[in-house]
Amino acid sequence: MFQKILIANRGEIALRVQRACRELGIKTVAVHSEADAEAKYVKLADESVCIGPPPPDQSYLNIPAIISAAEVTDAEAIHPGYGFLSENPDFAERVDKSGFVFIGPNAETIRLMGDKVNAKAAMKKAGIPCVPGSEGALPEAPEEVIRIAHDVGYPVIIKAAGGGGGRGMRVVHTEAALISAVSLTRTEAQAAFGNPMVYLEKFLEHPRHIEVQVLADKHRNAVYLGDRDCSMQRRHQKIIEEAPAPDLPMRGRVRLGERCAEACRKIGYHNAGTFEFLYEDGEFYFIEMNTRLQVEHPVTELITGIDIVQMQIRIAAGERMPFKQRDITFKGHAIECRINAEDPYKFTPSPGRVTSWHMPGGPGIRVDTHVYNNYYIPPNYDSLICKLVAYGDTRAQAIKRMAIALSETVVDGIKTNVPLHADLMHDAAFLRGSTSIHYLEQKLAQLKTG
Ligand code: ADP
Repeated sequence: MFQKILIANRGEIALRVQRACRELGIKTVAVHSEADAEAKYVKLADESVCIGPPPPDQSYLNIPAIISAAEVTDAEAIHPGYGFLSENPDFAERVDKSGFVFIGPNAETIRLMGDKVNAKAAMKKAGIPCVPGSEGALPEAPEEVIRIAHDVGYPVIIKAAGGGGGRGMRVVHTEAALISAVSLTRTEAQAAFGNPMVYLEKFLEHPRHIEVQVLADKHRNAVYLGDRDCSMQRRHQKIIEEAPAPDLPMRGRVRLGERCAEACRKIGYHNAGTFEFLYEDGEFYFIEMNTRLQVEHPVTELITGIDIVQMQIRIAAGERMPFKQRDITFKGHAIECRINAEDPYKFTPSPGRVTSWHMPGGPGIRVDTHVYNNYYIPPNYDSLICKLVAYGDTRAQAIKRMAIALSETVVDGIKTNVPLHADLMHDAAFLRGSTSIHYLEQKLAQLKTG
């Protein structure tokens, strides 16, 4: 096992990884920007290194600074968390070439999954169900594009091969709008991702977002840790996640999990990963694979009793997984609310000093946060400040516990989306479960006009 790990991230996930290391008896190195120098989790680490000024491109995305921090502190491995460099194959490669262990899959796998056209082809080959669409990238010839869209059937969605974070996508409803939409998306994709390649898919009108968590070791053992529903989204950003996904047919979900684990073995995947699907009319359609730890991993931890971050570290160290699929059991229901520092209905960011901070507790409540009383939320980073997670024997109990927890939560000095979450815990459609990915936007639009 490693003696010392460098955590190349900030905020709640830096603290989460630090806790996993401490439980495993591993020393930690926190790297931080000047904006995070005073944060308590930085002080809690065994060592800390300032890697640059507040803007992410000069600190948390600064590969040479992070590598030299690992060198001067004699760290053996680097955990990238999520976001920042976690899905950057060049970073994974540099870590490896510099003699450190990257806690994640290898660089080639990250590169493969980062190109959506290649990722989709690889998944199709590995037996994963995909959204019907073009075979690979769209050709240049307009008549070819028109034929492909016609065969797939309208509406269609044009997506950039190099896209990510919900960007580089355009929905097309009629043939008349097709060619200009394709060329616009190409131009945007070239500017945003340096890759003009686009592809086409059938646009699903009311899907749910269902994802499967997997773990695989370096000895070709792979398991699935069940599914999550992350359909409550705004602008493709998840705000509530739950495990297991409500109301999925048992046979379909088991088959899907098994196929994901099998795909990991086929492509030689190791470490934690997530297969994301859209689910509509009883069918699953692969959209992408995330080759890293996800924000919403705690809900899976609560229903399986498996510490995913510790498993990531043990797998990176070359250990075999201590369990097989048949040893994994799913118990109860867990829900996560992402607490963001933002206006609950206008969504404008709300950084600044937290003048009062009181977090809930009690049976089944887990709080993952780096924030405390008098903490200053810097304006330079993502607005996620806390993950509030509720566990119950049933979905209804988890929701009830979450509603109570939200009512106990006090955050003063900044705005947060706690009121929106509190509202959603009493929302009739959410209580029924199985809302589509468009539900929240539709509800917000109604609130605006009503
Ligand atoms: P990104 O990497 O940018 O997150 P994804 O391919 O995961 O891109 O898609 C992001 C979101 O866009 C999905 O969660 C879904 O809301 C929507 N989307 C993507 N593909 C389709 C599709 N074929 N039909 C309907 N919605 C889609």
